[in-house]
Amino acid sequence: MKHVELMDISKSYDKQTNVLDEINLSINKGEFFVLVGPSGCGKSTLLRMVAGLEEITGGVLKLNDEVANHLPPKNRNLSMVFQNYALYPHLTVEQNILFGLDVKRVNKKEQKRRLMETAEMIGLSELLKRKPKELSGGQRQRVALARSVVSEAPLCLMDEPLSNLDAKLRAHMRVEIRRLQRKLGLTMIYVTHDQVEAMTMGDRIMVLNDGKVQQVGKPITLYNEP
Ligand code: ADP
Ligand code: ADP
Repeated sequence: MKHVELMDISKSYDKQTNVLDEINLSINKGEFFVLVGPSGCGKSTLLRMVAGLEEITGGVLKLNDEVANHLPPKNRNLSMVFQNYALYPHLTVEQNILFGLDVKRVNKKEQKRRLMETAEMIGLSELLKRKPKELSGGQRQRVALARSVVSEAPLCLMDEPLSNLDAKLRAHMRVEIRRLQRKLGLTMIYVTHDQVEAMTMGDRIMVLNDGKVQQVGKPITLYNEP
């Protein structure tokens, strides 16, 4: 079953040059899809268009088989994890995790249930009363992950979520994120410029270069290309 479909998607910021050029792509429900390519090739732009944070200048975006080009972000039923985590410094871990549910008016009892379940699953139960500045980089990353999981959105978009962590923690979190994605049956679009992340995490990988699709396929087929 298709979850996200890009049909001839293009993007121009200045009405002259295309930073993305006629991208065609179809991502299935429950698939872990990795978008890889050098800095500036258009990965974040593509992700932001799926999220509704960036206007689409050409082509059609479909979510669950419905045209979504102008669907408001809050109606897209997705969560997003950013490279810098985007945590609120004055809020506790608990408040950061629950912020989006307050906005969506999920009732307090349901919030509590999801909070406990998520904190347990991600290993944050002991840290709920702390502020972001009292956490390590890896713990902050977990809070960002928890905020995404607690939304229970079936589609998750991650933009270089591990690039601020050291190598050991990155390796650990690669496994952790895959485990969560499988357990929850999430559709994932995961942006990275790290080949190892792409090869070890992706069910399928798309290589972008200068706004164009260079290759799409399973890790093993890409790896065997000359
Ligand atoms: P990546 O995520 O692969 O590093 P981006 O999507 O951030 O690439 O950027 C793709 C291209 O679009 C780059 O040339 C970048 O400078 C340009 N770009 C990104 N965001 C904007 C913006 N808000 N306004 C103008 N140009 C932008
Ligand atoms: P990334 O890590 O995705 O490459 P960047 O540092 O390129 O992120 O971009 C960070 C922010 O700056 C984004 O919100 C992007 O839209 C904006 N941006 C990137 N390139 C440009 C540009 N050429 N003009 C204006 N804004 C830009």
